[in-house]
Amino acid sequence: MAGRDLMDTKYLSTRCCVVGGGPAGVMLGFLLARAGVDVVVLEKHADFLRDFRGDTIHPSTLELMHELGLLDEFLKLPHRKVRRLAVQIGATSLTIADFTHLPTVCKFIALMPQWDFLEFLATHARRFQGFHLLMDTSATDVMLDGDRVVGVRATSDNGAIEIRADLVVGADGRRSTVRSSAGFKADNLGAPMDVLWMRLSRRPDDGSEAFGHVEGNRIFIMLDRGDYWQCAFVIPKGSADELMKTDIGAFRGMILEMSPWLGERVDELKGWNDVMLLTVAVDRLRRWHRRGLLCIGDAPRHVADRRSGH
Ligand SMILES: Cc1cc2nc3c(=O)[nH]c(=O)nc-3n(C[C@H](O)[C@H](O)[C@H](O)COP(=O)(O)OP(=O)(O)OC[C@H]3O[C@@H](n4cnc5c(N)ncnc54)[C@H](O)[C@@H]3O)c2cc1C
Repeated sequence: MAGRDLMDTKYLSTRCCVVGGGPAGVMLGFLLARAGVDVVVLEKHADFLRDFRGDTIHPSTLELMHELGLLDEFLKLPHRKVRRLAVQIGATSLTIADFTHLPTVCKFIALMPQWDFLEFLATHARRFQGFHLLMDTSATDVMLDGDRVVGVRATSDNGAIEIRADLVVGADGRRSTVRSSAGFKADNLGAPMDVLWMRLSRRPDDGSEAFGHVEGNRIFIMLDRGDYWQCAFVIPKGSADELMKTDIGAFRGMILEMSPWLGERVDELKGWNDVMLLTVAVDRLRRWHRRGLLCIGDAPRHVADRRSGH
């Protein structure tokens, strides 16, 4: 990475500028730097600690970590192993996935907060000279030379930055700035559900791993995050507004219908501020590349958006 400061703007140049420090962007940054390619990754947040991230590291990802020689160290991070997935449908318990038969090194899903995964990858990537992760740096738009994308404009606490790059990669997730500033068009595929996202405390004798309960058109999923359950309550699309006008007590009752064993713990949901609504929408770019630019990860396929909550 070469750079110079002029007036209030910093000018950098690199082979590849990746916008977004989520799993797609950090992994790409790691792989390029490992291959000796100079890469600048921009992440708009100051750290990876967003609650709004996933928990499951799938066997195929673990296989990749194995191929990269990182698996043993990675599995030293706190995690829980899920070998089977079961759902409770009414009174019937059904195993819907059994990972023990997979032809992979790890025959399980590792439950680990995504921020630990990202911190781990970034720490390893920083060992390569060509890896530059600029946190707290937000891309605002792409730079063009004719019809070719030649870089990215960004802002940070220290002022404006212009990064020239042979290739720009949009890995900036569901509300991709790169995708919109490059003028890409998306097909909306629709989605029949929305999700209410919340935490409930977990007790040592709760059992572990993940639980799923299905009751009519509602699904309640609980992911073990150590001292709390990360819960997702799936509801029919568009029904949240009506539900959230009612007293939270009715919602607590709906959770208890699905998982009576939670008991008085549902009282931890004191109001709707304790519940975050994810409106689910699925769309996909018709084309996710143009000269000098590629979109990867969630950027070319929008999946869910936070709409309200704490
Ligand atoms: C609530 C929820 C739960 C999920 N649970 C799971 C799960 O358990 N397992 C699973 O496999 N998947 C899960 N997913 C999906 C998974 O999180 C995404 O598919 C994955 O994070 C996509 O990775 P990404 O790197 O493409 O995008 P993201 O993870 O969205 O990362 C994009 C990054 O770009 C940054 N960024 C955005 N705009 C800019 C900008 N202008 N400049 C600089 N940086 C920017 C963002 O801060 C973010 O860090 C979940 C998703 C949600 C919403």
